[in-house]
Amino acid sequence: MKVNVDAGRCQGHTLCAMIAPDVFELDDVDGHATPVDPNVPADQERKVAEAVRSCPERAISTS
Ligand code: SF4
Repeated sequence: MKVNVDAGRCQGHTLCAMIAPDVFELDDVDGHATPVDPNVPADQERKVAEAVRSCPERAISTS
């Protein structure tokens, strides 16, 4: 699985980083999320799927 955060949609709600702190990191200034690594380890896939569902801005996508 690969994960991507649409920077134009992300509003920095931080939910994704609370759900999957090993996958998403937050910018110190604006709080926007980016993937630590776009290639998601298998043991993190369930958390990433939950983050996709939880993001209020629908900013997270997987492939
Ligand atoms: S939950 Fe969505 S809007 Fe919030 S920081 Fe994560 S990607 Fe951005």
